[in-house]
Amino acid sequence: MDDEYIGQVRRTAAAMAEKLTALRRHLHAYPEISWQEVETSRLIASKLEEIGLKPRIGTTGKPVGVVADLVCGGDAKPCVALRADIDALAFGEESDLEYRSLNSGAMHACGHDAHITMLLGAAEILYSMKDRLRGQVRFIFQPAEEHGLISGAEAMIKDGVLEGVDAIAGMHLWSHVPSGRVQWRCGPVMASSDVWEVRFQGKGGHGAMPQKTVDPTVIAANFILALQTIVSREIDPLQTCVISAGKFHCGDVTNVIPNTAELSGNVRTFSLDVRDSAEAALVRIAKSVAETYRGSAETKYIYVYPHPVNNDPALAELFRDVAVQVVGGDNVEESPMLMTSEDFSFYQTQVPGVFFFLGSGDPEKETTAPHHSSRFNVDDAVLPAGVSLLASFAGAALEKLGEK
Ligand SMILES: [Zn+2]
Ligand SMILES: [Zn+2]
Repeated sequence: MDDEYIGQVRRTAAAMAEKLTALRRHLHAYPEISWQEVETSRLIASKLEEIGLKPRIGTTGKPVGVVADLVCGGDAKPCVALRADIDALAFGEESDLEYRSLNSGAMHACGHDAHITMLLGAAEILYSMKDRLRGQVRFIFQPAEEHGLISGAEAMIKDGVLEGVDAIAGMHLWSHVPSGRVQWRCGPVMASSDVWEVRFQGKGGHGAMPQKTVDPTVIAANFILALQTIVSREIDPLQTCVISAGKFHCGDVTNVIPNTAELSGNVRTFSLDVRDSAEAALVRIAKSVAETYRGSAETKYIYVYPHPVNNDPALAELFRDVAVQVVGGDNVEESPMLMTSEDFSFYQTQVPGVFFFLGSGDPEKETTAPHHSSRFNVDDAVLPAGVSLLASFAGAALEKLGEK
């Protein structure tokens, strides 16, 4: 992308700094959890209308999620989509910030308030520069990234949000990365995520007469240990997989052997083959361990975000070049692969996409608390850079795709 375009984007974004901070803090004060982002969606739509766009609210019949199209000079091809997630998490905020959450039991603890703000900023800039671009930009404000079981991305795709889209980009703030640093990566960057549940059926009885029972606690304990051999003994050591048990419940009384033990946990990988092997091994081990100790097992394996976030190499490299122009080469680095997951992966199964990161951690401003912590906060000084990255990448991607 030519320096003049990037320069104008950066100057316009810098001039918006105060407005961006005010909007981000307003959104922070009124968080709404997954599938309940009604007021958030209304606010986004009204801001898009102010810009001059015609937003559409709604996802699978619910009044959440917003999409708007900007047709630049020429026709509507190619089409580049920019996506922001808009939901908050279902826990209260622990802070004395003047803009702390006013909606009890909800908090923007992942930075999605900033994601909304930055995409609205990019929409305003791209609208003002639309005569310099050819093609279409689709702005996607997606609900329910954090839900874990009913993905907003998957729902929006079913509604047709990717129809006509040639490429998609998304960005996430990272509080563990210093403010202003940009991270990118080709290929897989975030893991797939599945949930497993196992229910061991034993036969309860008196804690002092184990010979008359089938103890599901012993079965479950053996299962947890055997589970450790999937990654260490069954998966190719050069592949990556995490299997964790997060929940283990059996019994409530000290001298009673319970009837059942219930466990559940998570599997994360970067490869569908590895995921399938892990699933098969988990089911097999649950069944055989239960049988060894005279019990039985029921297992459930749920594909939550079944694909890794997998960046298209050409788009990722295009993004890196744009990022170097926007924030300077010293501030751009390759991202490590992460075992966290993101439902942006659903879009990438349909169209080429790139997902990148912008650091927002500044110890002096106390913005380094982990994502999903009740003391999470965003360094608002990075908002103009985020706006510039999105607007610059959209311009560069339209130019690149238009060459074909
Ligand atoms: Zn999150
Ligand atoms: Zn997030």
